[in-house]
Amino acid sequence: MKHDDCLFCKIIAGEIPSAKVYEDENVYAFLDISQVTTGHTLVIPKVHTVDIYEMDENVASKIFTTVPKIARAMKTAFKPAGLNILNNNEVAAGQSVFHFHLHLIPRYNKEDGFNAKWITRNDEISQEELQDMANNIAKEIE
Ligand code: AMP
Ligand code: ZN
Repeated sequence: MKHDDCLFCKIIAGEIPSAKVYEDENVYAFLDISQVTTGHTLVIPKVHTVDIYEMDENVASKIFTTVPKIARAMKTAFKPAGLNILNNNEVAAGQSVFHFHLHLIPRYNKEDGFNAKWITRNDEISQEELQDMANNIAKEIE
């Protein structure tokens, strides 16, 4: 269902212009207006879905199925050295448009505009602590 105040719903409806990369019954892919690196593409479900938490299985399967073929096309078109796939959920994680989207970001070199940096903890986590954390998640999986 289209949400009237959603930028990406308006893009899908053609009310706001976009540079389309791919479209099928369920999925729309287009170039990110900011082009963090050349070819930076957004892949979105046509059905308005705010984020990963509210995505139903059917929508998930439709969207993720398209990603390898779009990724391969980008690899052929631009010959990047690598590709990062990123999805921000909620403001704290950097989400600014509240219609689910995957960022496909071709990588060319270390100074190409994208930098996903995380700091590896150097304190040792025991196998028991890891298993405790895993259990906390596992027991909530429905
Ligand atoms: P995020 O911060 O993960 O929610 O990503 C939102 C992305 O949408 C940003 O990378 C923006 O550059 C991009 N964006 C915003 N408006 C447009 C637009 N009109 N067309 C294409 N991309 C857009
Ligand atoms: Zn929307």
